Amino acid sequence: MKKAAPVIVWFRQDLRLNDNPALVAAAKTKGPILFVYILDESQQCWEMGKASCWWLHASLEQLAISITKYYHAQLILLKGNPQELLEDLIKTSAAQAVYWNRCYEPGVIARDTAIKQFLKQRNIEVFTFNSALLHEPWEYQNRSKQPFKIFTPFWKTLQTMPLRQPLAIPKNIRSFKKLTSLSLEQLSLLSNYPWYEKLQNYWQAGENSASHQLKLFLKSGIKGYQILRNRPDLYNTSRLSPHLHFGEISPVKIWSTCQQTLEKDPSLNQDISCFLSELAWREFSYHLLYYQPTLPDKPYRAAFNKFTWEKNEQALKSWQQGLTGYPIVDAAMRELWETGWMHNRSRMIVASFLTKHLLQPWQLGEAWFWDTLVDADLANNAASWQWVAGSGTDAAPYFRIFNPELQAHKFDPQGEYIKKWVPELKLLPINYIHAPWKAPSAVLEKADITLGKTYPKPIIEHNFARKRALEAYRKTQG
Ligand SMILES: Cc1cc2nc3c(=O)[nH]c(=O)nc-3n(C[C@H](O)[C@H](O)[C@H](O)COP(=O)(O)OP(=O)(O)OC[C@H]3O[C@@H](n4cnc5c(N)ncnc54)[C@H](O)[C@@H]3O)c2cc1C
Repeated sequence: MKKAAPVIVWFRQDLRLNDNPALVAAAKTKGPILFVYILDESQQCWEMGKASCWWLHASLEQLAISITKYYHAQLILLKGNPQELLEDLIKTSAAQAVYWNRCYEPGVIARDTAIKQFLKQRNIEVFTFNSALLHEPWEYQNRSKQPFKIFTPFWKTLQTMPLRQPLAIPKNIRSFKKLTSLSLEQLSLLSNYPWYEKLQNYWQAGENSASHQLKLFLKSGIKGYQILRNRPDLYNTSRLSPHLHFGEISPVKIWSTCQQTLEKDPSLNQDISCFLSELAWREFSYHLLYYQPTLPDKPYRAAFNKFTWEKNEQALKSWQQGLTGYPIVDAAMRELWETGWMHNRSRMIVASFLTKHLLQPWQLGEAWFWDTLVDADLANNAASWQWVAGSGTDAAPYFRIFNPELQAHKFDPQGEYIKKWVPELKLLPINYIHAPWKAPSAVLEKADITLGKTYPKPIIEHNFARKRALEAYRKTQG
């Protein structure tokens, strides 16, 4: 009997063995498999931020361990131009086919389309799959067979679409003999400026950790999620975002595990439904990006091209460093710098503050998040920034301007989040912790605080900022 030819499984944003459609399909050929990761240096895509690079390093390490454990095989690491590297690899191995799971960033779609064409012209088969989303962006259509612009009907439609079951890890894979690979260190993902070294205190990358995190969340975080998900001082969201971004866990797996949990405990219905609707926001962002590839750079709504931002480097810096004088904003920005992650409510507050109080272009906030978030994701980040800034589709209206003090009262009622991330305020009594500028001098003195010295005075006054933002917005409407 003729021996099956070798095949390549090209890992990208699917750094897992479970529920991996490309891997399962490759295994069915019975040919020896080359497991490959290529760090793309061809510059066609948004360059990864520093926190993402850290995560990728740790995640590849875990994937290589799993491949060795399950298949006694190696993960071949390469960097450079993926098309050229795949061509070389095909020559060396005589592979006849390449399998990969699809990605959806506009630059990556263009790159992959070109590679697919190139390989096909050389009689190499290419098989691609959906592993990152519940459904492909183009599978969602509204009643007029058009892309969605509004979330609610999108979510309703999603719930009617049949979903596949998660796939098991394929067994009995034949691996290809050893080939030359770069070492993980040679990918140089960890730059010389190691601010992110502390990230390892907060995160464990990799598929095992993702699945552990999901279990933990469904055991102790999901109850009350619908309401408590808004509280940055509590641990009631899943923190699965970086795992999802790097494909260490699939949304299909999360969805099906949630359904099983619900069968066991129907009282979680509202909470699980709300959690799944957040996953649907992720799908919606990908859907928007697919049909509007300029989403990361340009306002979705053209009227916002006329908006006059007031670029101010000092204001931007104060925001980035968590030194705005608004405790909830500063707590959130410091949480980000320390952990590479920020709670969703905090993200909304700081994004509103940057774009509306400080009138800084949303793209500057998007860029900062891109560099510092471990879950930096082109679709989610761009869609969310535009949502808060008011320039996105189905966005929060521009004139809804968060009052940071009221947001803090509502979502960090005991000031625990503030005390954790802005320790210089921890001695302030609860009635002043959300607005230290309102505290009488004796109270400040007792709490060891000198405003303007040990903690900043507000860099802008709320009512003034609100009026200025509304005026700037009014001009775009004319
Ligand atoms: C200004 C701004 C920027 C953001 N940038 C990113 C980003 O770069 N990457 C990113 O993954 N998310 C981003 N988000 C969305 C959201 O804040 C995070 O996904 C969420 O905080 C991650 O925490 P979690 O996993 O505990 O969420 P959970 O509440 O447990 O939600 C589960 C999953 O659903 C998805 N999700 C939740 N909320 C949203 C949302 N509003 N939009 C899209 N997907 C969502 C995420 O994949 C998340 O992991 C941003 C939000 C804002 C307001």
